[in-house]
Order: sequence, then structure tokens, then C-alpha cells
Amino acid sequence: MARLIEQLQRLPGVGPKTAQRLALHILKRPEADVQALAQALLEAKQQVGSCSVCFHLSAEPVCEICRDSNREQHTICVVSDSRDVIALERTREYRGKYHVLGGLISPMDGIGPDQLYITQLVRRVSKQDIKEVILAINPSVEGETTTLYIGQLLKPFTRVTRIAFGLPMGGDLEYADEVTLARALEGRREID
Ligand SMILES: [Zn+2]
Repeated sequence: MARLIEQLQRLPGVGPKTAQRLALHILKRPEADVQALAQALLEAKQQVGSCSVCFHLSAEPVCEICRDSNREQHTICVVSDSRDVIALERTREYRGKYHVLGGLISPMDGIGPDQLYITQLVRRVSKQDIKEVILAINPSVEGETTTLYIGQLLKPFTRVTRIAFGLPMGGDLEYADEVTLARALEGRREID
């Protein structure tokens, strides 16, 4: 029981009380249900990797968004994390492709451009007919550094814009509501 609570507490947003409630709930379920939950956790972990084109989470070598020929092929929206793709998809405003960086440049944490999927992004943009790259990155210090760095790299190849955040500095894209995000996307502007 203590081990189960400890494991549950490692999940984001789960404090000691919630972990205890979840553990008690799980123990009350029929064994078949618990088995199914454990199986689902393991299989998700084993089968979901990242798309070889955009690095969004995917069970297939190339994700559903990249494979969708109905989506706009000439626009790439750059985000730091797969959670941001999910947030932007919820707005239903954006119909282009994505590129997930896998984090932000953060010298303090020892994360440089080489640890992110930036080279792959530059290759995509330079080799394909990309009309616009939209940088949709959180307005934090790391986000600004990353936005400026990528902007400079991509400007020789295409038009580069950034979304206009109505959010305060440090605001998180993932937690922005759909309307705010859609407005931020609509109000995007050319990078300096
Ligand atoms: Zn993809």
C-alpha cells in the first residue's frame, strides 16, 4: 500500500491525499480492472514513441498529423512539448503541421540547442517548401532564448512568426484556455 501511494505521488498534480484516495480506490476495484490498468500503463509506455518527422508522441513511426494530407503542408508550428500540440489541437484553429523541440534552451540546466530537435527542424524547413514557421513557445526566459535562437536560424529560409501571448511572462501555453490560444495564434507577428 505504501509503495503504491509513493508511486502515485510521483505523478504530476498528485499530492499525498490524492495518492491515498487513488490507492484505496484501486484496491477496491476487481482484480481484472487493476490488471487492465497496469496493462494499459505498460503498453502505452512500450508502444508510444515519437514521430520521426515532427517528434510528437506517436505509436506509429510517422504520427497522424504528419500523415494527414488534408492538413496544410506549408506551415510548421514549433512547440517545446507534445502537451502544447494537444493544447493547440483543442483550439481547432490551426491546420498546419508541428515540430516538437523536446524542451527549451536552458544554460542553467545544461540544455543547449544540441539536446533539442533543432537541427531536424532546420533540415525540414530548408528542404521543404515551407511558407511560414510559427513559434508557439511559452513566454519565459528559456522560451525567449529559444524563440530568438530558432528565429535567427530559420529566417534565411522562410517567414518566421511568433504567437502573440495575451499571457503574462512565465504564462504557460499548456494551461491557456482555447480562446486565449486561438487569439494568440491569430495575432501572431513577424519575428524581429
Ligand atoms: Zn509527426
